[in-house]
Amino acid sequence: MSNLARDLTELSRKAGSPLADLTIQAEGNAAVFDRSNNRFLVKASGVVMGNAKEEDWVWLELGPCVEILEDARKNGSSEKLTAALNAILASSKNSDGQVRKASIETLVHVVAFHSMGVDWSLHTHPTPVVALAASKDGASHYSGTVFPDEAVMCGPVPLFLPFANPGLDLGLGVYEGVLEYQGKYGRNPGQIILGNHGLATFGVGASDALGTTEIAVKAAKIRLGALGAGGIEFVPKDAAEAIAFRPDEILRKRLLEREKLSS
Ligand SMILES: [Zn+2]
Repeated sequence: MSNLARDLTELSRKAGSPLADLTIQAEGNAAVFDRSNNRFLVKASGVVMGNAKEEDWVWLELGPCVEILEDARKNGSSEKLTAALNAILASSKNSDGQVRKASIETLVHVVAFHSMGVDWSLHTHPTPVVALAASKDGASHYSGTVFPDEAVMCGPVPLFLPFANPGLDLGLGVYEGVLEYQGKYGRNPGQIILGNHGLATFGVGASDALGTTEIAVKAAKIRLGALGAGGIEFVPKDAAEAIAFRPDEILRKRLLEREKLSS
């Protein structure tokens, strides 16, 4: 088994632990990008994150998945593209060569690896986040940050996306949402809130992805508390930008250093 499968299993078990309270049953998934080979490992469908084993991760080539997303972005979602995606997901193999169907939510990770320059991607369904994402004014509850560490870890502005059906529509929604966000803010979203669904976070390392999720969950609890105490008062936008600036610089430097190492 590769080190990536081992590290991904460790991340999954932490994220899927009952104590973490981020997923139950077969909810959620995680993925890691093997950048030098342009392929990634993602959770096989139906696996319980807290019980994941190294053989529960399957390999997929990034290129064909990106082609489907690009086609959908240009021409819209279609049954033909959904069938092409399902064929890719159904033929994936683990490191032992066994065929295991990849998660239906795989395209969320594809967007992260293709468009965001990160190598680790974590998707969970934390109850406080889903409560807000299922609330009537979910988008406005996520129009700013509520405490400084949220701005530092998750970025000064969350990306909130409306509900989309799992599969191609979900992936396309995340792809278009991320591209629009990057165009508007000149940076990646640190946390993506999926309407009536869950949370996606990312990192240059596994601990970044999990740490960001933990802060996002705390921030969701704070929002719920603030709503119960009369309403949310966001950190002023200028202050959130200033707080977030320095770690972003550090991240940028780390990305540059990694590029130097791999070139
Ligand atoms: Zn999900």
